[in-house]
Amino acid sequence: MTRYTIRPINTGFLKTYPKRYLYHNYVVQYFDLPSEPIDIPVFCFLLEGGPEGPILVDTGMCDTARANEWHHPGSLQPDGYAITDQLHAIGIKEEDIYAILFTHLHWDHCFHMEKFPRARYITSAREYAYAQNPALIQVRGYEHPCQGDIRPPFTGLTLETPDIGEAETEILPGITAFATPGHTAGHISFNVQAESGTYLLAGDAVLCLDNIRPIPGSYYTVAPPARFLDMPALERTLKKIQAMRQDEDHVLACHEVTLVARAAATPILR
Ligand SMILES: [Zn+2]
Repeated sequence: MTRYTIRPINTGFLKTYPKRYLYHNYVVQYFDLPSEPIDIPVFCFLLEGGPEGPILVDTGMCDTARANEWHHPGSLQPDGYAITDQLHAIGIKEEDIYAILFTHLHWDHCFHMEKFPRARYITSAREYAYAQNPALIQVRGYEHPCQGDIRPPFTGLTLETPDIGEAETEILPGITAFATPGHTAGHISFNVQAESGTYLLAGDAVLCLDNIRPIPGSYYTVAPPARFLDMPALERTLKKIQAMRQDEDHVLACHEVTLVARAAATPILR
């Protein structure tokens, strides 16, 4: 049976307000949150141990200038934080990567994807279709060409786009995918087999771990975030992840602030 090791890789920081991004307007009253913007990380994940070579789940964000011009002002990709630089630093070349699984196609999850010449690119059929024709509030996130002189990272590339539904579908040995809509229309998450059990790679379905915790003293069994496309779908997704996860340590969310310290202490999760 294939078991992976998982290396969280932070590709930079987005400047964002917790009350406008990580926590919904209806739940902020229950939390003691700063009013000032904070820096949230942008993680992707390297999976090693598969039969065909290393796999990436997402590829992270772009350089500082583009992030500031088109996305979140104040964002930063420090030198050496681009996914390709970080792979080089641990001895992995672009052509070594066998496959890249995308939770969704927002700019901070698929940048530099064209740099991996051997990689199979895999996301859900629904996400790929939605990325071509997103809701107005998500045009910027997808770097949609209707904004002017910008093209999304997946332009001109061929993606594999299986139908991923509510049930888990094995897409590579030891890795299943399942639909987790709400943040975007076709967002998917992955269950990855490892020595300690099953890691749930939640992408942006969970923007911070508080999203899948009940709020004490309230009727909220989950605490939805402020960035979403479809709240009923997202609520079902959060409850599903809450019920499905092995434990909280086995949920890996791309923008979880505490993952920075955790990855520094434990670079490789097993
Ligand atoms: Zn996103």
